[in-house]
This record gives sequence, C-alpha cells and structure tokens, in this order.
Amino acid sequence: MAEVAITGGIGSGKTTVATLLVAEGAVLVDADQIVKDLQKPGGKVFVEIVQKYGRRILLEDGNLDRQKIAEIVFNDQEELLELNAIVHPAVGEEMGKQRKEAIKSGKIVLVDIPLMVTLDGKLGRDEYELFDGIIVVDCKIEVAISRLVSYRDFSEKDAEARIGTQATPEQRRKYADFIIDNNGPEEDLSQQIEACWKWMRSLSTKDPDR
Ligand code: ATP
Repeated sequence: MAEVAITGGIGSGKTTVATLLVAEGAVLVDADQIVKDLQKPGGKVFVEIVQKYGRRILLEDGNLDRQKIAEIVFNDQEELLELNAIVHPAVGEEMGKQRKEAIKSGKIVLVDIPLMVTLDGKLGRDEYELFDGIIVVDCKIEVAISRLVSYRDFSEKDAEARIGTQATPEQRRKYADFIIDNNGPEEDLSQQIEACWKWMRSLSTKDPDR
C-alpha cells in the first residue's frame, strides 16, 4: 500500500478529484471533514473557538457561524494565525489517528490536505515529506474564482480574498509528484484520473505496523 497526499487551492477541485480516486479504490482521509467534525458543538475546536470569540460566533441553532468566523479571520492576518493555532494542532492529532487506521486497511490511502503548502511556499509540516507522493490539483486563479462564485455563493471579492490567504498555484506545483490539470471541464479528468491511479498503485509499499 501507499500513502498519497492531495492538495490544491480553494475551488481547484480537490474534492472532485479525490472522489474519483475513491471510486477507483483509494481510502480517503479528509482534513476538511475532520475540521468540520471537530467544530461540531462539544468538539475540541468548537469549545476553544467559543472561548476565544464568545457566543457572537454561534448561530441560533448552536452551531458555529463559519461565515462570521471567516469574515473575522480572512480580513486580518493576525486573527487567522490565532485561529490556526487552535485548529491545526487538534486537526493534526485527529488526522494522525485516522491515517493510522486507514493504513491498516491495506488499501492506497489518499490524504486530502488543502493547506499543505503555506503562504510562504513551504510545506506546513515536516511530516508531509513522508508521503509516498503528492498530487496537486492545479487550476488557474481566475477559474477557481469563477467556480467559487458560480457554485459556492462567494462574491468575487471574497473569493479573491480567500485565494489571497493561500499559497499560489506555482508554489504548490513545486511539491507535485503528479499534477492534475483541472482547468477544463470535468470530462477532461477521467483520463488523468486513470493515469494518476496507475501511478498511485505503482508506489512503494508501506508497513501497516509502522
Ligand atoms: P475547497 O477547497 O473549497 O474544498 P475543492 O478544491 O475541494 O474546494 P471542489 O469542491 O472539488 O474543490 O470544486 C469546487 C466547485 O467546482 C464544486 O462545485 C465542483 O463541483 C466544481 N468543479 C470542480 N471541478 C470542476 C470542473 N472541472 N468543471 C466544472 N466544475 C468543477
């Protein structure tokens, strides 16, 4: 088996590509899903965020108001760093657990890490070097903006601001062992997915008990 990371900018199509690779047989560990789970009422991250910002960042139903939090942090670099200091360690710990479990399955593990490459063009964690390979879902900034506006209800300004908090496509591509070009229509993905899955199966085996 092998453990492969997948990354890409917001709106690049990571989830779309990861879903296609799961259909081929990969087991997915999804950092975004882990964040969502930890942010549910009572979750580790939920508790710390409410302690920091107070009840003003809660919706009436008791869930975190993600939109309000995004408004606070994506216009203020300092706030973003402080929020990351709450979220990242908890997510890292949970991901570690889920990756160990997934490796035990003996299947090829795909780990979706949106912020694998940081704003300064470095890997967010040293341990990311240990993956057997890194897939970068590549897409031009203007294409990502248009998808976020069309399918995610972002305003153009908010989409640009979010993208501005992330690494550039060039910075990400430097770490790619396999690049999926997702600038075209979804139909253009199938051949690339086939080649990518073939490459993933060719990667070295890993000891499930490591
Ligand atoms: P995020 O970082 O926000 O989770 P993501 O990188 O996982 O985004 P997706 O959710 O896969 O991106 O894609 C963003 C949106 O663009 C979705 O609505 C998806 O259906 C759409 N999309 C992805 N790829 C294509 C494509 N090649 N053509 C048209 N639409 C696409």
